[in-house]
Amino acid sequence: MRGAVIYGPKDVRFEEYADPKILAPTDAIVRTVATCICGSDLWRFRGVSPVVQPRPIGHEYVGVVEEVGSQVTSLTTGQFVVGSFVASDNTCELCLVGYQSACLHREPVDGCQAEFIRVPLADGTLVATPKQPAPEYIPSLLACSDVMGTGWYAAIAAQVRPDSTVVVVGDGAVGLCAVLAARQLRADRIIAMSRNTARQELATQFGATDIVTERGQEGIAAIKELTGGIGADSVLECVGTHESMQQSLGATRPGGNIGFVGVPHGVHIRGEELFSAQVALRGGSAPVRRFLPDLIDGVLQQRINPGKVFDVTLPLEEVAEGYRAMDERRAIKVLLRP
Ligand SMILES: [Zn+2]
Repeated sequence: MRGAVIYGPKDVRFEEYADPKILAPTDAIVRTVATCICGSDLWRFRGVSPVVQPRPIGHEYVGVVEEVGSQVTSLTTGQFVVGSFVASDNTCELCLVGYQSACLHREPVDGCQAEFIRVPLADGTLVATPKQPAPEYIPSLLACSDVMGTGWYAAIAAQVRPDSTVVVVGDGAVGLCAVLAARQLRADRIIAMSRNTARQELATQFGATDIVTERGQEGIAAIKELTGGIGADSVLECVGTHESMQQSLGATRPGGNIGFVGVPHGVHIRGEELFSAQVALRGGSAPVRRFLPDLIDGVLQQRINPGKVFDVTLPLEEVAEGYRAMDERRAIKVLLRP
């Protein structure tokens, strides 16, 4: 089969390599119907995270079950499935409290920008749709496998409530999905921080009521001005830089909540600053599996359409061009079709 392999900074190749095989009786093999490039894949593409040796890349996928291991009981070949980027048994104590991304038996799902994928702990990880979805639903179902689930978690972690005021820091695909999540959770005011016209427009379509283009201290001042001088009830941090976390701390009212889902790169918070901010912080790798059944239902019932974050679609063999388009911010998010 063929798939994407990252060799180092700016070097993603589309290559022939061995088909994945069932390694454990709890595995499934999925034939990829659609996959995509994540903002977090760019950390390696940009050389921020090291690539020690060439390896297959990608962790977002939807597809059709091709083969199941002998202990897989809930799935059969031919089913259309959506899975998350962390394989989880969905039965351990941490899964049962909704933290499948911290499952005691978790395994990363990687190498998904490929024609076939091995998914560990298939019963716990994959969620089948009731029937084969119509083609127009595929992008939104794919978005559920990471960005929509992660944006949703940002909103849950920040305790977004009806009639509350929400700030979303970050206008990448996760930030945009976080806007959509805040809207679904019936926030009254949703302030998106973005200086890119196309992303502002999508944020507005997803439910943003205000756009703030300023950053840093000016950004914080603009949020304060929109919130009666006190800051927002919930701030959804969807970037992972020191600046975006500072922005989030400055934009949250005392007693408010920050949900942070951007993978941190160089974030430092001083104790004194946290003490005086009087905010709650919850975040980390999103337990996407917790939300998948509801999100899939939301897509199929047309309550949400997170697939709009895909503004470029390419054949899988052009994956390297997809990375360049996202790296150069010519694309919000690239969908790849095998
Ligand atoms: Zn578990």
